[in-house]
Amino acid sequence: MDTTIKDFLTEVNKRNRNEPEFMQAVTEVAETVIPYIVKNDVYYGQNILLRMVEPERVISFRVAWIDDQEEIQVNRGYRIEMNSAIGPYKGGLRFHPSVNLSVLKFLAFEQIFKNSLTTLPMGGGKGGSDFDPKGKTDTEVMRFCQSFMTELFRHIGPNRDIPAGDIGVGSREIGYMFGQYKRLKNEFTGVLTGKGISWGGSLIRPEATGYGVVYFVQKMMEHKGTGLRGKTVAISGSGNVAQYAAEKAIQMGAKVLTLSDSSGYIFDAEGLDEEKLTHIMELKNIKRARISAYLEKYPKAKFVSGKSPWEVPCEVALPCATQNELNEKEAEMLIKNGCICVGEGANMPSTPEAIHQFTKHKILYAPGKASNAGGVAVSGLEMAQNSLRYNWTREEVDAKLQSIMSDIHQSCLDYGQESGYVNYVKGANIAGFVKVADAMLAQGVV
Ligand code: NDP
Repeated sequence: MDTTIKDFLTEVNKRNRNEPEFMQAVTEVAETVIPYIVKNDVYYGQNILLRMVEPERVISFRVAWIDDQEEIQVNRGYRIEMNSAIGPYKGGLRFHPSVNLSVLKFLAFEQIFKNSLTTLPMGGGKGGSDFDPKGKTDTEVMRFCQSFMTELFRHIGPNRDIPAGDIGVGSREIGYMFGQYKRLKNEFTGVLTGKGISWGGSLIRPEATGYGVVYFVQKMMEHKGTGLRGKTVAISGSGNVAQYAAEKAIQMGAKVLTLSDSSGYIFDAEGLDEEKLTHIMELKNIKRARISAYLEKYPKAKFVSGKSPWEVPCEVALPCATQNELNEKEAEMLIKNGCICVGEGANMPSTPEAIHQFTKHKILYAPGKASNAGGVAVSGLEMAQNSLRYNWTREEVDAKLQSIMSDIHQSCLDYGQESGYVNYVKGANIAGFVKVADAMLAQGVV
């Protein structure tokens, strides 16, 4: 078996040299899915995984724009259209200086499995730019978004490819991009998700990823006969996913101790409450301040510069910032300090060595493609509402989100049982694979 996996990875690596993040994501899937393929005649010999790792289309383009000093700036834009076997391409746009082909291909590849797990008809895609919105004025961000969409618009559409937000792309950026798309196409369609409520957005979409992570974690803990109430929780990040993971964890009676950004983390030993979290949302979303500004209002808290929160003893860890933000040493520290559950809000935040620690010690561990699928699931619900020209209530969307997270958890149980332990990585990868693979087989070699 090891040879089959190794041969496959050698073959993939030949075409994708210098793409470490992409190879990391492919390796994790190959290690769990290839043994399943080998055991199932229907998939064996069809080169399905080899087809899945090759994007259907990669678009790369120049984004030229003019800053407030009237200097011409140039960035690179991308859209990876990875797999459309079960629906139109769907996945976020990331604006961050670290964006490159490897990062976006890993995200697009993960998105195939995640979207399949939601049970909604969405293929996998991802895109973005190396543009950094941090420190830019609103008008600079608007000019960049308009220039970005002036090229992207010809490749996307409500039945073709429907982007959403991701790191650095929130409601402001989605608004500017939607405005430009509408102007260029002279059409009001559901071409982007994460839209404002008054112009086609869905209730609960901003909250969906963070809430979904917490719903999933609660399911994992219930399966072990426990729950989130009264548990201490460490969260990294302080953006969209982290904020709403914190909100739901607090609502469910957990004690949230930390949040972070790329400058360091805050530790509030008393735990965050609704009022403190509202203050953080104002700092991050309106004032666009650094997380350390929290101490100006709450001086009893601590700010630890340049570090991740994983050194803080906690029972539940929710990494919600970015890829590879939790390494082996940090995983060991979490386990030593009594952590019993890790639920990923970010995509691929744990390194392979960290994951190895979690599985070796048999603590509950949910990979992002399962636990953070609530965001794209509600994006799918936004698309459905756009097609229906109808809006569901907050309660209706939240109930659908909870039911989808519960179904994903069940799929992980169905495919991930291993003598007394649930391997959620294996469960999510195989469950996600089966639906896409069946569709690919039915559609022939295309
Ligand atoms: P945001 O841009 O809203 O927030 C990102 C947060 O992560 C910020 O606090 C940011 O800090 C921090 N961060 C980003 N890069 C780094 C880095 N290199 N080192 C340390 N901290 C970093 O993004 P989201 O909350 O939307 O996304 C967070 C994660 O969740 C990503 O992995 C994303 O792919 C994933 N995700 C998001 C979904 C969504 O619906 N938004 C859906 C599913 C997954 P700083 O401000 O200092 O950069």
